[in-house]
Amino acid sequence: MFPDLTWNLKPKPCTEIFGDQDFELITIGCLISDMSKSFGQSDLGISSYVENLTSPEADPIWKRIRQSAADAGMPSIHVGEMDGQHLEVLSRALKPQKVVEIGTLAGYSGIRLLRGMNASGMLYTFEFSRMHAEVARRNFVNAGVAERTKIYVGPAIEQLPQIEKYGPFDLVFIDADKTSYPAYLEWTIKNLRSGGVLLADNVFGWGGIAENMATDPETIASVEALRKFNARVVESGQFTTTFLPTAEGLLFAVKN
Ligand code: SAH
Ligand code: MG
Repeated sequence: MFPDLTWNLKPKPCTEIFGDQDFELITIGCLISDMSKSFGQSDLGISSYVENLTSPEADPIWKRIRQSAADAGMPSIHVGEMDGQHLEVLSRALKPQKVVEIGTLAGYSGIRLLRGMNASGMLYTFEFSRMHAEVARRNFVNAGVAERTKIYVGPAIEQLPQIEKYGPFDLVFIDADKTSYPAYLEWTIKNLRSGGVLLADNVFGWGGIAENMATDPETIASVEALRKFNARVVESGQFTTTFLPTAEGLLFAVKN
């Protein structure tokens, strides 16, 4: 029942993507496309330039959180370094009071969001796995934000109604199971305030959103759900929407 979330990190073999023609050129392309967490991956020079200049993980807390997840045997599917930086900058700019996060993992993105919130701000975060939630809880304590955080354990779609009484919310960040993104969106439309912000990770479907090259049914279903989600955000007429062109694709929309 627990979804396998590690598959999206498996490098795609070059032959799976391109067959075996033009192999030397193609190998370089595949090596680049396998660096799925780098920012600006279409130009590795620019990616390194921005990462060196901004040092998004200069604070040792970020590596400590990544390490805590690795030590617990959790998949390394936290947002990328620059995506973490985007979350923190956006949160510092918007100063949301009430934030909903769907997909806690080890608390990395939640702590990025909390960094931008006022001391009175609350993070309501949803996690399917009890083990992930426990690692996140320890990271929230170590980061000094535990009293501003509430973790709900179980399938998010069943847990979300519990917090509706605290709404409407200022910001919703979606980053859990991809096939549920459309359902999370319907919840968000009802519970995000006008002027509130919707953020969603992985909306480029690991590069397959325009043309799906996946062959396994799980990836195909995820990419289809992400397409449905992206289209509904735009076509619902409820948001003004843009896509931050990070490696994973970070949807950034404001509710009208
Ligand atoms: N936002 C995190 C990464 C989240 S990874 C970060 O960047 O730091 C996705 C998480 O969603 C995993 O921990 C997984 O266990 C959780 N998840 C998967 N299906 C879920 C569901 N139905 N409800 C709630 N959480 C779910
Ligand atoms: Mg993600």
